[in-house]
Amino acid sequence: MDWTTGRVVGKRVWAPGLFTLAVAAPQVEPFEPGQFLQLGLEQPNGHLHRPYSVASPHGDVLEFFVVVVDEGRLSPLLWRMEPGDSIDVSIRAAGSFTLQKCPDARTLWLIATGTGLAPYIAILRRPDVWRRYPHVILVHGVRHDSELAYHEEIAAYSEKHGSQFVFLPTISRQQVAGALFGRITTCLQEGSLETIAQAKIDDHACVMMCGNPDMLRDLEEQLCQRGLRRHSSRQPGHLVLERYW
Ligand SMILES: Cc1cc2nc3c(=O)[nH]c(=O)nc-3n(C[C@H](O)[C@H](O)[C@H](O)COP(=O)(O)OP(=O)(O)OC[C@H]3O[C@@H](n4cnc5c(N)ncnc54)[C@H](O)[C@@H]3O)c2cc1C
Repeated sequence: MDWTTGRVVGKRVWAPGLFTLAVAAPQVEPFEPGQFLQLGLEQPNGHLHRPYSVASPHGDVLEFFVVVVDEGRLSPLLWRMEPGDSIDVSIRAAGSFTLQKCPDARTLWLIATGTGLAPYIAILRRPDVWRRYPHVILVHGVRHDSELAYHEEIAAYSEKHGSQFVFLPTISRQQVAGALFGRITTCLQEGSLETIAQAKIDDHACVMMCGNPDMLRDLEEQLCQRGLRRHSSRQPGHLVLERYW
């Protein structure tokens, strides 16, 4: 893999252990919103690197939205980084979790748990999504409301795009006014997700889902029972997935 040395130019802490690093890495080659890069650090026992979705479109400064995994190896080191620090960034992005790999649809559902929000922030910042999909619904599943990162930016999309955009925060461990209570899959099963969204996840939908593998598995199972299936260029469908672990 080819690497460039990036420089941390900003850090925003959303909640303990949940943060965005802004990294200046102008040598990274152009990529599509939704793709991921590798972040790496040289360690005594070798080069330690992991994939991270880029939470911003291509540009000289790239954002990464990260959560610390307590027993993890790289994420606690990223958490300790501060502006001015250097970090290795892969030059070429990878992945097919992009709008180019999604089918046309009446409604685009962007469903995330935790830092699975990252690729959607990159996608929402570009005009393509707003031109292509009549309705865009963002569902962000977290445990506590303090983990609802990027909330001001998301509120600005609601303001700007009116009824084209719906944001559904879904909080599993806390009852909060204006948010759904429970897991995303439970809210779907009980009907509250679609009632509040005023939209159905049906044959006219494209559903992107990103984050926790248990959520992806359960949600895919629920949606397959409705007759929806994964999308591919050879077999058009509705579901496009990105697993984080
Ligand atoms: C395509 C892709 C994009 C990714 N994008 C992001 C991103 O934007 N932001 C981000 O924070 N992470 C992202 N990840 C996860 C990231 O690559 C690392 O796995 C994560 O940061 C943990 O690395 P670590 O070295 O600290 O832990 P490791 O030492 O690698 O592993 C610790 C354990 O934690 C599990 N794990 C990994 N991520 C999580 C998590 N979020 N919560 C709970 N358990 C977890 C792993 O399966 C492993 O068993 C992405 C992964 C993939 C495959």
